[in-house]
Amino acid sequence: MATGNINVSVENIFPLIKKFLYSDHEIFLRELISNATDATLKLKHLTSIGETNVTYGNPTIEVKIDKEKKQLHIIDQGLGMTAEEVEKYINQVAFSGAEEFLEKYKDSAKDSGIIGHFGLGFYSAFMVADKVEIITKSYKDEPAAHWVCDGSPTYTLEAHDKTERGTEIILHIGDDDAEFLEENRISELLVKYNKFMPVSIKFGTKTETLPKPEGAKEEDPAPTQEVDNIINNPTPAWTKQPTDLKDEDYKGFYRELYPMQFEEPLFNIHLNVDYPFNLTGILYFPKLGQDMNIQKDKIQLYQNQVFVTDNVEGIVPEFLTMLRGVIDSPDIPLNVSRSYLQADGAVKKISSYITRKVADKLNSIFKNDREDFEKKWNDIKVVIEYGMLSEDKFYEKADKFTLYPTVDDTYFTFEELQEKIKDSQTDKDGKLIVLYASNKDEQHSYITTAKDKGYEVLLLDSPIVSHLIQKLETTKENISFVRVDGDHIDNLIKKDEETISKLSDEEKETLKTDLEKVIPTDKYTVQLEAMDSGASPFIITQPEFMRRMKEMQQTGGGGMNMFGNMPEMYNLIVNTNHELIGEIFNSKTDKKKERLIKQSLDLARLSQNLLKGEELTSFIKRSYEMIK
Ligand code: ADP
Ligand code: MG
Repeated sequence: MATGNINVSVENIFPLIKKFLYSDHEIFLRELISNATDATLKLKHLTSIGETNVTYGNPTIEVKIDKEKKQLHIIDQGLGMTAEEVEKYINQVAFSGAEEFLEKYKDSAKDSGIIGHFGLGFYSAFMVADKVEIITKSYKDEPAAHWVCDGSPTYTLEAHDKTERGTEIILHIGDDDAEFLEENRISELLVKYNKFMPVSIKFGTKTETLPKPEGAKEEDPAPTQEVDNIINNPTPAWTKQPTDLKDEDYKGFYRELYPMQFEEPLFNIHLNVDYPFNLTGILYFPKLGQDMNIQKDKIQLYQNQVFVTDNVEGIVPEFLTMLRGVIDSPDIPLNVSRSYLQADGAVKKISSYITRKVADKLNSIFKNDREDFEKKWNDIKVVIEYGMLSEDKFYEKADKFTLYPTVDDTYFTFEELQEKIKDSQTDKDGKLIVLYASNKDEQHSYITTAKDKGYEVLLLDSPIVSHLIQKLETTKENISFVRVDGDHIDNLIKKDEETISKLSDEEKETLKTDLEKVIPTDKYTVQLEAMDSGASPFIITQPEFMRRMKEMQQTGGGGMNMFGNMPEMYNLIVNTNHELIGEIFNSKTDKKKERLIKQSLDLARLSQNLLKGEELTSFIKRSYEMIK
């Protein structure tokens, strides 16, 4: 038997491992199963190139709990190690790897929440075990080796009588980590980290029901048998070629990923690139609707089919974190902080590749099946709009397929919209005016008025639309968006001929003074205007700019909250050609005048949803009095 001292400069690295990576204790299992997988795949490779004539067969990795002895076993049928290789790979390589890792990250580990993923490898076993044994038999014709280490730098290495090829790791689980002797806990970890690993993983057995033999009676129980419980799918959809997968396969994989999710995804994007970086994966567009506050940890990151994290912040652009699915790339550095990650060149390339793929996919659906794209639009628009706001590259592509639905469910692209309104909706300077509503019910009367005049009214109702409009106005030339209840649209849209006012300028002055005696001018700016006699007598509008700034601030516009605190200001447009205005003007008594103005103002407020509470109650009461 040989004993020796492991050659590390840090006297005892195990307390360090425990201390610094405390929260990540559970990763030991992933590390050991990764090693078992590597060893199995290495053997596969050796047999495939004819390096050895051992039969590869159908190897599995087995995880076993021995509660009595407080042991956890990880057993593989991979290429194994000779005693010499244990010396080299475990005592030297693994130890120095662990040491290097800790040296590098021990300071940052505590505060920056670095990901303890990968790099610790085999030695992460000591996070949960007081003593670790390796019993390993190489595929080469050499005796098996037995290595034991109790966490001090001293180890023993002797021969063992194991005859089957492969490696068994035995962890003597420490009292603080007894949870890892619980079947449920191990099962949970296997599902979390190893669900899609490329070698079959066995954990216990399960009972399988067999078909009843012929001639069995109704009441006879169906026969059962105990079979290996394989916890993983070694060939998940993303590892296959897109050409080998049908729509059903993609949907099936979605269910595999999210067993608790009952709604089907809208469509998927298969990622597959091997130059200049390696990346595979499948992203899904779930039904999003208007909700921006959906869970953002639904994309899972893998490296060579090993689960790493479900926090892909910094790896995919923020707007795509609303999607679901899997990304698998060995080229993403993981032992680093998120801020470093975002600055990393490879990661930047990955992020822009994903953005481009998503844009291309959307474009192809738009081009090939516009009807389907229109149908899905309302469920995907928040992602697209958010992407247009936050990623210029995406904006450029999305500008061609972003849809602008009208209140009557016609879907225009921006170009189509421009074409449609270029003659009918321009102001006196030739600027294009896009009219939109944000709520069909609340703005019903305004929408009707605009439509009666033959204008197109868009329905833009997503929560970030004010930001998008702002961006469109600055990137596109000569265009303004105006909400239907915004600064009166007739001011903006060029008219062929002015309507002649029935009142003289002098009369208008008198009327204005009368109105302003009753109307609270701190809230309403009174504007007299000669309109068609069929138009409403009083119309309340809200300055587009102010309203939009307030909305933008509410949905995260950043900067100071200067608009949010400003009082609501409205325009009150009075149609001097309306009969009622004439009646107000000609009223004999001040009392009657006041009553008419008050009542008209309240009706206008009512149509804008601005009459509430006590004011609404007294309006109703007053109205009953009037018709009595
Ligand atoms: P890494 O996996 O990154 O190389 P580890 O610390 O996890 O680092 O493992 C160190 C080395 O020990 C491996 O490279 C491999 O040569 C050897 N090793 C570990 N586990 C096994 C195993 N189950 N079978 C064969 N060799 C193994
Ligand atoms: Mg490893």
